[in-house]
Amino acid sequence: MAEHAYDFDLFVIGGGSGGVRAARIAALAGAKVAVAEEYRMGGTCVIRGCVPKKFMVYASQYGKDIAKSAGYGWRVGDVSYDHGSFVAGMHAEVDRLSGIYSRNLKNAGVDIFEERAEFVDAHTLRLKTSGKTITADKILIAVGGAPWRPSPDELPGVEYTVSSNEIFHLEDLPKHIVIAGGGYIAVEFAHIFAGLGVKTCLVYRGEEVLRGFDGDVRTAVHEGLKEAGVRVVTGAVFEKIEKRDGTDLPLHISLSNSSHIDADVVMMAVGRRPNTDGLGCDAAGVALDDKGAVIVDEWSKTNVANVWAVGDVTDRVALTPVAIREGHAFADTEFGGNAWHFDHSDIATAVFSQPEVGTVGLSEEDARKAHGAVDIYKTQFRPMKNMLNGDKSRVLMKLVVRQSDEKVLGVHMVGDDAAEIIQAVGIAIKMGVTKPDFDRTCAVHPSVAEELVTMRTKWVPEVKSNA
Ligand code: NDP
Repeated sequence: MAEHAYDFDLFVIGGGSGGVRAARIAALAGAKVAVAEEYRMGGTCVIRGCVPKKFMVYASQYGKDIAKSAGYGWRVGDVSYDHGSFVAGMHAEVDRLSGIYSRNLKNAGVDIFEERAEFVDAHTLRLKTSGKTITADKILIAVGGAPWRPSPDELPGVEYTVSSNEIFHLEDLPKHIVIAGGGYIAVEFAHIFAGLGVKTCLVYRGEEVLRGFDGDVRTAVHEGLKEAGVRVVTGAVFEKIEKRDGTDLPLHISLSNSSHIDADVVMMAVGRRPNTDGLGCDAAGVALDDKGAVIVDEWSKTNVANVWAVGDVTDRVALTPVAIREGHAFADTEFGGNAWHFDHSDIATAVFSQPEVGTVGLSEEDARKAHGAVDIYKTQFRPMKNMLNGDKSRVLMKLVVRQSDEKVLGVHMVGDDAAEIIQAVGIAIKMGVTKPDFDRTCAVHPSVAEELVTMRTKWVPEVKSNA
């Protein structure tokens, strides 16, 4: 590396997935790198997102699996669930992972500042706790996002609610949880708590959860919530929340549809916002959009020549693996002598509802808009495992195929292991797979996934007759 006119070649603000990957790759390429993290190394995914959430999904699935095993001959005595011991184990694992993130950075020679950093100008940062000023040639903003909640003016009593940050720290299971929202987080936690035996209600302002997903996936997940025992209230939002002492369910929620619900935990899962408040982007001249997201080009570069941003703070696709790829591309390009940028198309993703969603490519609705005529192949069936265990849930599989050349534009699944299955399908989609490629692929039997390569009949919408 060239002689250091600045304290560091690269300063990364934020120790989440994107920032840590960029810092490590740049340092391994020989750059002098620092990371500032005000909370704990690992960011949303490791500390209060994907990782503890997936543990909670597993916790809630075990109860159902024990019950369902009766159909396979297992006789299990009295079972009980100890939330305290599960949560302690979960947090110990989160601590271990956070430690690995720090160790990997240190092993790569990265300096870590365990405090908040804010811009003074485009090359200068102030560390909030120590008051130190640090300069860097290049700066990467990787500060992520945070749960958004309405203000107390918009929602009186919002201070009684928790977000996805606090939900991992409940000492006891709620008696009745009410969750606002219909996106990834609301759906996943509704299933988690219902699976843990908690009376659960989801309040969504729309008609069907998971806006933006394929219509059949939305319907399957929406109905699946109800089958899992979640009370789903649609077309309504919270109007106010009052606290009443001396009762088991002290939070009294008034809804816009004039009804009321009493609960002991109220969770807001109504979206996340980029974490740019107080970061000093204006001092550095870094442009933000109207939601506070850092505006970047395909190289993750901001309008300021030496400042980049990756991950949720850019409000492109708010997923951990995306932040990692963006961070890696940035570091390879700027420090590794290998210029590339991440292609945001056809990102496979999962929603850990129960059963889960796996999806890659375009929904039927978006494919029709973008490509005109499409053929749909879809199947809904009760998987073999459920024949003996009393589970009535069905698997949905759907292929969206461009009519002109039979290119597969989207694959959607709702069912056990959908996340695992869609990861492999994602490779084929990236390679430009066609429906004839699916057709000449031999099935793995007996499996759920084999249905992906055995669907032969185009789905024809029912035509309603007036007769
Ligand atoms: P989403 O943006 O997915 O969903 C927000 C939900 O809140 C929507 O249903 C939205 O309704 C509703 N909403 C928004 N504003 C209001 C309001 N003012 N009043 C009432 N309802 C409102 O956000 P999440 O917080 O669920 O998740 C954030 C992101 O995190 C996701 O988009 C995803 O990228 C990522 N994530 C990924 C996971 C995974 O990979 N499995 C898991 C969890 C999060 P409407 O539909 O009408 O807009």
